Amino acid sequence: MPEPVFSSIAIVGAGLIGASIARAAGEYGAAGSVSLYDASDDVRRRAGELGLGEVAETLEAAVAEADCVILCVPVGALSAVAAATVPHMKAGAILTDVGSVKGEAAVALAAAGDGRVHIIPGHPIAGTEQSGPEAGFASLFKGAWHILTPGNDTSDGYMAAVDALTRFWQALGAKVETMDAARHDRVLAITSHLPHLIAFNIVSTAFDMETVEQGEVVKYSAGGFRDFTRIAASDPVMWRDVFLNNKDAVLECLGRFSEDLAALQRAIRWGDGDMLMREFSRARTIRKAIIDAGQDSGAVNFGRNPLPEPGSEA
Ligand code: NAP
Repeated sequence: MPEPVFSSIAIVGAGLIGASIARAAGEYGAAGSVSLYDASDDVRRRAGELGLGEVAETLEAAVAEADCVILCVPVGALSAVAAATVPHMKAGAILTDVGSVKGEAAVALAAAGDGRVHIIPGHPIAGTEQSGPEAGFASLFKGAWHILTPGNDTSDGYMAAVDALTRFWQALGAKVETMDAARHDRVLAITSHLPHLIAFNIVSTAFDMETVEQGEVVKYSAGGFRDFTRIAASDPVMWRDVFLNNKDAVLECLGRFSEDLAALQRAIRWGDGDMLMREFSRARTIRKAIIDAGQDSGAVNFGRNPLPEPGSEA
């Protein structure tokens, strides 16, 4: 086992991401010890039963000795949680987060800063549609990107902190990249936030359609709809906060998306098969590029054929 990057880390928010970091840090030796805190009594109890680390009864106790504190709460809670955390941290320790929106997260974390701790916002581009401590698993970050959006501080102490946090995420298996927060939010608006919005919307439209029986929506879901339902099953609190905090970038993408959708609508209405062929062929090349970049499996139907037997655990 390699030397741990941090002697001790603290995780605030023991859900999917917090639990995955706790498991990975222990399993891959990235931290000597892991303490956790969650606002929910029930989540703290479950985190303890799962053996995720040392579960503290208060935020203060969880973060007091940590070299690095990782906030794994919904984006809307970051401001209050960061303000409550910083006064109890050691001088020279690192405060980071995993929030899916970085502009607002950077503002929230910076506002809580008192000049004693190094603030380095971050976002793992990895996750699932599940939530809660039971959903966490150690290999979640393997091969995934982790984006850091450091501030303007160029002091030796801050640069060393960015270096240590980079090595920590690398030890969890992630590939680390540094980016400007505004750029992160623009990129993620199109690659993650808009796809989730479309999924939430298509599922809602299907269930509202008066001409379709809801039983048929479920029965024939393999015709593309099923893949949207996986994304649309994601945590509503997390996604509400993403859209409220990345408003400008999402609205910009949505505007362009609506225009492009209207163009497809027009092509269908006027029987413009050439236009449809052009657009659909272009989409295929992007799928191929994603597979070539190792961002997904090239296996047919995401490798999940045949369908699980009814009642099986697959
Ligand atoms: P999650 O499974 O719902 O976990 C969040 C945990 O934070 C919950 O246990 C929640 O408790 C707790 N919490 C809420 N407010 C708190 C507070 N004030 N103090 C302490 N704990 C608090 O959510 P998640 O999927 O791990 O997401 C956590 C963060 O990761 C979010 O910022 C999200 O944007 C980011 N992220 C998520 C994904 C993903 O795919 N899920 C991927 C990358 C990044 P309660 O349930 O009792 O409220």
